[in-house]
Amino acid sequence: MRRAVCSGSFDPVTYGHIDIFERASKMFDEIIVGVFHNIRKKAFFPIDERVSLIREATSHIDNLKVASFSGILPDFMHENSASVIVRGLRSVTDFEYELQEAQMIKHISPDIETIFMLTAQDYYFLSSSGVRELALFHGDVKGLVPPCVEKAINRRISEMSTKI
Ligand code: ADP
Repeated sequence: MRRAVCSGSFDPVTYGHIDIFERASKMFDEIIVGVFHNIRKKAFFPIDERVSLIREATSHIDNLKVASFSGILPDFMHENSASVIVRGLRSVTDFEYELQEAQMIKHISPDIETIFMLTAQDYYFLSSSGVRELALFHGDVKGLVPPCVEKAINRRISEMSTKI
């Protein structure tokens, strides 16, 4: 079975990510979305909520599973008998980061390949951080994230404002 992992922090998942999952699901027998805590980024949603939101937003993709992990990606890949990592690329800035990550993974586990899919034209500007910032300033995130994510963002923002 050809199994690939789409890894990321997905905080939150956007239509840009979902487009990559849909296209990757046609190339592999099974896709596992591997959700992790990116230590370079401050979490907006707890990891379990990110997993549930991705499950809800991808229920139309039959050969896709979602799981979280906390160790290193090559260990997660081996535990799940997956040998290909699929990552999305938007810009030169993404490329520089992705190249280093992919080479680090190759150094740790030469059996694992990382492949890149170019962002869809409609989503090249779209990032989780952009969505979070827009939402924090009460901008409309419709069309950028699925409706379930939109609802969760609004809930999270009202929780945050009651804590201030
Ligand atoms: P990470 O925290 O690992 O950078 P992200 O959740 O930000 O994870 O992104 C996961 C993957 O999805 C990365 O490969 C990223 O480049 C890609 N990605 C993010 N936004 C888009 C988009 N709009 N179009 C295509 N790929 C994207």
